[in-house]
This record gives sequence, structure tokens and C-alpha cells, in this order.
Amino acid sequence: MLMLGIGAPAAFAKRNKQSTQNQLDSFYEEPTKKLPVRKFDVVVAGAGTAGVVAALAAARQGAKTALIEVKGYPGGTVTEGGTALHSFYNLWKAFPGVKKRQVVKGIPQEIIDRLVKIGGTTGHAEMSKGYDFDSVCTAIDTELYKLVTFEMLAEAGVFICVNTLLTGAIMDGSRIKGAITESRSGREAFYAKSFVDCTAYGDLSAYAGAKYTEPNDYPVVNSIGVGNVSMEKYHEFLKSHDAVTQLAHGRRSGKDNQIVRLDGRMVNLPAGFSDQAEKIGMSTVTTTVHDNYFMFIKLNFKMPVSPTDRDEVAKAELELRRRQVKAIELFREYVPGCEKAFIARTSPKLCIRRGRLITCDYDISHEDVIEGRHFDDDIMAYGFHDFAPRFQIKNGGTYGIPYRALCVAQIENLLVAGMMITSDKRAHMSTRNTVSCMGQGQAAGTAAALCTAKNCGSRDLRYATLRDTLEKTGVYFET
Ligand SMILES: Cc1cc2nc3c(=O)[nH]c(=O)nc-3n(C[C@H](O)[C@H](O)[C@H](O)COP(=O)(O)OP(=O)(O)OC[C@H]3O[C@@H](n4cnc5c(N)ncnc54)[C@H](O)[C@@H]3O)c2cc1C
Repeated sequence: MLMLGIGAPAAFAKRNKQSTQNQLDSFYEEPTKKLPVRKFDVVVAGAGTAGVVAALAAARQGAKTALIEVKGYPGGTVTEGGTALHSFYNLWKAFPGVKKRQVVKGIPQEIIDRLVKIGGTTGHAEMSKGYDFDSVCTAIDTELYKLVTFEMLAEAGVFICVNTLLTGAIMDGSRIKGAITESRSGREAFYAKSFVDCTAYGDLSAYAGAKYTEPNDYPVVNSIGVGNVSMEKYHEFLKSHDAVTQLAHGRRSGKDNQIVRLDGRMVNLPAGFSDQAEKIGMSTVTTTVHDNYFMFIKLNFKMPVSPTDRDEVAKAELELRRRQVKAIELFREYVPGCEKAFIARTSPKLCIRRGRLITCDYDISHEDVIEGRHFDDDIMAYGFHDFAPRFQIKNGGTYGIPYRALCVAQIENLLVAGMMITSDKRAHMSTRNTVSCMGQGQAAGTAAALCTAKNCGSRDLRYATLRDTLEKTGVYFET
């Protein structure tokens, strides 16, 4: 590890340069090949935060549904990137007199209910400090989340293809006819009437020729889970420096009223800690569902180019792993009770807050978000902003996500859900959060199934039919 640390950057850069040159030197023309065809009503690409919910929604509407996921489990960034699921509620605590209401229900809440039964979540723990950011902290056991969603997908009869990479789209004019996949079972074509792209990077949309942008305006991150640590001791450490900015108590290791979320003001912490933390892009926020464990210490690294560049990603992956080790060293050195901390888990690959942004029929603006606008084709309500308290939804209320924001421009039968919608960076700071992605997933999967049943394109679906079905399946709408 140490040797790699010293010698690797120059050698790596040289190798990468060579491999790029090699790629440009010559080309190999693939021979044409007949692919086996599998036929479905709905194909959902990506079994992440949004995709799991989309596939469940489609299958429960009776659509023969396939779900294509490159990793070996469902869950995506909700199990790899962040700290808690933001947010099932409006920001009532920051607005005295405003009514507390759960604004995302339906399948996302069902997942939480299943997790509650097996000790896999803090539940919706109320924040006692920092509630002008979020009123609740809903933390999850990331491994149990993967299991629970896997089981729910199997129960719903979804044809689950894990370890399967989506590699292309087969077009018939402006309709997608099929998705091409690659796995150890070979290359296959998945035909369907409706498609939902939940790949986060919009891979299916890009293959289908949809318009997109790649702003590359966020660092990439590999979050770590840290073992052999104590929330109580970390709390003491922050408190001793008058640095606690967020605090929530909830269910942890089977006991109620335990500390489950903490964040601290970095500038108040000892310079040796804060200076080093800044250098490695480390944040102080953490949540947990278990004793002796911190979830998701984030390490940020800003790549010079878009994270769709494989060779630059390789360099970033290495850099992030170096930062993870440094983060552990900081905890061991500075935080009493964390002297034996170790990296208990990492994400299988780096995460990004936005990669490709797919052009849809409507692009949600920041004014829509903070003014709390609702639309005549709302598919859900949402009330969280990642930049709170600087930006909050007016009066602790909600805004609506319109169905049009999920319809990929110029493609007839493709919907998207998740972090790939919304080009305005500040609006995206709201729409990209996990609970929003899950809600979008429920709407997109439901709409795809209805389009299949009615044999129509995404834009020909009657909104009243979609709304009625969403309401019947537990989706909350503001009245
Ligand atoms: C570091 C970080 C911290 C965050 N913190 C928080 C937080 O604290 N709270 C919060 O609410 N939100 C947080 N977010 C935002 C939120 O986690 C994400 O925006 C959201 O989870 C994205 O969901 P998604 O469904 O769009 O994508 P994902 O959940 O990433 O799902 C995409 C899925 O598609 C699969 N896939 C991709 N391409 C292919 C392909 N070609 N073939 C097959 N499968 C493919 C992926 O493997 C993945 O499973 C954070 C994000 C990051 C990156």
C-alpha cells in the first residue's frame, strides 16, 4: 500500500496515457452477432434508489417487468453514498405552527416498514439539533436494505438480472425496441413496450440518442463505514469543541433514544483535524443504526473531467482509497474512543451527485422548488432541500414533481427517474435526494406499466389514470 502510494501516480499516469494512445492507434471491427431476445412489458435499467421502486411499481401493476443491474444487489447509491434518507417529511420543525406531515409514502415507506421489522433502520428519528436542515433522520442498515429490496422484487415477480451490464439500445424510429445487455450468460436483447432509465448516469437514454449534458460540477466520493467507534464519544468530542450542529436520537442496535445522527462545525475542531479533513474532502456528518459503527464518512475528490471518462475514474478511485485511510488515521488520532477505528465497508465504486443530465419535457427550476410550486401533472410532493437552511421550500411546505419532468424528450416510450433529472444545480440539490428518487421511481414504473397496458406512448397516457393509480398505491399528494 505504502509502495503504491509513493510510486503509483507517475507510473499510473504513464500507463493510462499509453493505453489511451493504444486505443486511438487502431480499431477492431466486431462481427455482427445474433442475440437471443427476451420479451417484457417493462424494462427498468438500474436497480438503484429509483430503479428498485420503479420495478416494484411496474410489476405490481401486472406488467411483466425486467430489472437490469450491473452490481450483484439492488440498492444503488442509497446504500453507498449518503448518510440518511432525505426526506419523508416536510420541514415542519423549522417553521413553528406548520403541520408535521409525511409527504412521501407508498412503496418508499413500505421499504422502511420492512426494515423496521428487522432492525434495519432508525425509523424517522426527529432531529433535536439542525432541524432547519431536515426535521427527521431516517438512517438505514445498508446491507439489510439490499436484502429487503431484493426480497420485495422477488415477491413482486420481477425478473431480476443482477451482474448484468446494459450496453446499448435498439431503436425503431423514436421508440426504444430493446435494451442490449452483457453478462456471463452472454449478450442478450431485452424487448419491451416501455422502458424506465434509472441508471443514475442515464446510460439507456444516452444509448437511445437522448439529449443530455454533463456538467461535472461535483466532486466524486467514496463513502466509508467505520467500525470500532462510538457515537457517544464522537458526540463528546464535538461537544467539547462546541461544534455539534446536528443531533438526532432514534433506534440503534435494538434500543430506542440512542444517538443516530451527528454533524459538527469543522472550524471549531482542532486545526490538526480540520486542516487534514479539508485536504481529503472529509465531512463530519454521520449516522448509524448500530453501536460501534459510523455510516458514511464522505471523502470528496474533484475530478478534472467528467466521471464518464474511464481512465480518469481509475485515478480517482485510487486517490479516494488513499483518502479513506487518511480519514481513519484522523479519527484514531483525534477522537477519543476511536483509537481502534477501521474501515468496515467501502462502496464498490465511486459515487457522484450528478453525472449525465437527461433532457426531459420539463426541467424543474429552483424557483419551482423554493416557491413550493405544484403542477397539474404532479406525480409526488417533496419538501427537502440539501442546501437548507440557506434554501428551504416556502413555509415548510412542498413542491410537486410533474410527470413531464420524467418524459425523455423526443423518445416515445422512455421515462427516467432519479438523479439524472433537473439541470439547475440548486433545484437538483433537492430533486436528487434519495426519497425524491424513490418517489419518482414509483411514478415512472407505474406510468410505464399503464402505458404498456394501454398500448400507448409516455405522452399519450391520461394524467387522471396515472394520478388515480398512484393515489390507490399510497402516494401522497398535497390538496
Ligand atoms: C456522496 C453522496 C452523498 C449523498 N448523500 C445523500 C444523503 O445523505 N441523503 C440523501 O437523501 N441523498 C444523498 N445523496 C443523493 C442520493 O443518494 C442519490 O442522488 C440517489 O441515491 C441517486 O439515485 P438513483 O436511483 O438516481 O441512482 P443510483 O441509486 O445510483 O442507482 C443507479 C443504479 O443503476 C446501476 N447502473 C448504472 N449504469 C448501469 C448500466 N449501464 N447497466 C446496469 N446497471 C447500471 C447502478 O449500479 C445503480 O445500482 C448523496 C449522493 C452522493 C453521491
